[in-house]
Amino acid sequence: MTLSGSPDTITDDAAMMRRLAFMIEESADLPDIKALVLLYSLILPLLREADLKVTPSVIATEEIASKMAEGVPLLCGLDLEFDEDAALDLMVRLAKAAERLDEQPQCIGSTQSVAHSAGSIRLALEEHKLDAGELLFSIVTDDSSSLISAALSLQLDPGLLRTIVQNTLKPALRAWCRQLTPLSDTTVWQKGYCFICGARAMLGELRGHNQARHLRCGQCGADWKISRLQCALCGNEDHKSSGYFRPEGAGDKVRVEFCDKCKGYIKVFTSFARMAPETLDIEDLATLHMDCIAKNRGYTR
Ligand SMILES: [Zn+2]
Ligand SMILES: [Zn+2]
Repeated sequence: MTLSGSPDTITDDAAMMRRLAFMIEESADLPDIKALVLLYSLILPLLREADLKVTPSVIATEEIASKMAEGVPLLCGLDLEFDEDAALDLMVRLAKAAERLDEQPQCIGSTQSVAHSAGSIRLALEEHKLDAGELLFSIVTDDSSSLISAALSLQLDPGLLRTIVQNTLKPALRAWCRQLTPLSDTTVWQKGYCFICGARAMLGELRGHNQARHLRCGQCGADWKISRLQCALCGNEDHKSSGYFRPEGAGDKVRVEFCDKCKGYIKVFTSFARMAPETLDIEDLATLHMDCIAKNRGYTR
């Protein structure tokens, strides 16, 4: 038996693509951001249709409860199985999609160089000069060093390779997240990292009429509630050393929450309903200017 490849949250694909098209127009004067938005507009449809034939993870109810209580991500230490050929195929298709960046009518210098780098990565994968299994393992174990050295030894762009491999893994992580979330009592998880895969929270949501504060994982899409007062990164609850700001013109849809104790920040969105995993990537991209402001004020993500 494998887990369904289809997402749990129905998103309006047309609306998602319209949003990306609008962002491409808006980022006309910001070449690096425009390249990223163009890249995601090409790879998101591939991620939505991908099926890595994921085998359900085997974990007992008691183990779920003890891991949650001890702060250990549920996938940690489990045998995780999926179709490696399907993963390699997706990795190649993502690289091919990035390679098509220079065919886009909005193509600019920075997108051309990404397209060229993606072509080299695609070739290295097709010629088996890169080991897809090892690359995926480096992401699961959060060990960038092996991925970076593999990229550098073939004169490939390590950042782009990491983006491609990370995205390849997302459909599998999201399938396990859909399997394990209903079995988990997320109320005990007051952490800044994901209870499913261990990645650091990508962004927050103030959700619904009572503005319940949730954290979201950009890798597997997990969703967990966290106290209104707690720093999402270090747990600091002292309101004198934490706060938030809204950049001019940002409206009340999103704010940057910062903490002077750990010097971290996280973007927090006001939402009526849970954002779909793909929407997290898009909203993160749409607010990259806020990351610049936060970093200029001395905070890190
Ligand atoms: Zn996760
Ligand atoms: Zn903090």
